[in-house]
Amino acid sequence: MTKIRENLQTIGVKLKQYLSQYQRNEESVQLLAVSKRHPSDKIREAYNVGQHAFGENYVQELLDKNQQLDDLEIEWHFIGPLQSNKAKKITEVASWVHAVDRLKIAQRLSDYRPVDMPPLSICLQVNISGEKSKSGVRPEELLSLAKDIVQLPKIRLRGLMVIPAPEDDFNKQREVFARVSKLKVDLETQLQQGGVNIKLDTLSMGMSNDIEAAIAEGATIVRVGTAIFGQRET
Ligand SMILES: *Cc1c(COP(=O)(O)O)cnc(C)c1O
Repeated sequence: MTKIRENLQTIGVKLKQYLSQYQRNEESVQLLAVSKRHPSDKIREAYNVGQHAFGENYVQELLDKNQQLDDLEIEWHFIGPLQSNKAKKITEVASWVHAVDRLKIAQRLSDYRPVDMPPLSICLQVNISGEKSKSGVRPEELLSLAKDIVQLPKIRLRGLMVIPAPEDDFNKQREVFARVSKLKVDLETQLQQGGVNIKLDTLSMGMSNDIEAAIAEGATIVRVGTAIFGQRET
């Protein structure tokens, strides 16, 4: 058995175990394989053992890999920071964009999404650790941004995404994810109170180092790179 296959199997077992341990439905988490800076061959290998959703951080890298893997039905998730001048290409390839934090980006994504494709699923990236990080929406700005974004025709707002500051302590990891989880519930409630009937079904949180804490707090997409593909080349 190859290493990638073995790793995917190990993670699959762990995910099941955590879901049961934290009393969650068996199918309530999607594994997103983060393949940035790993070659297409490795993606193909993972695909061939049943992993079909992949996350990439860089526009050109995603486009190149999409071309090299044209014969596969990959579900691409763009998880990196996005500049609005690169939004068009992404809309032609990706099913999801995880790190939206400005209306202008969302508008571009909606404008460029090809008419014959379904609306693009997006998450709003939350800036949970305050001034330490430049990207992400501040919690107090979520509602007003979400209200504008749900008006866009070719965008489907699915939920929130977070990249917390690195932290090794399990309870502290959990505490941060719990805050994001609550933000999502509150946002949904506030939108509904404002007459926007929407179900936010996604919490994109948890990476190789904090999967368990993320699952414990309701993650529905975990974004895992290193634990599947090994260390990235620098
Ligand atoms: C690289 C990356 C990941 C994967 O991180 P690992 O620690 O390798 O699992 C997840 N999310 C985002 C946004 C990333 O950039």
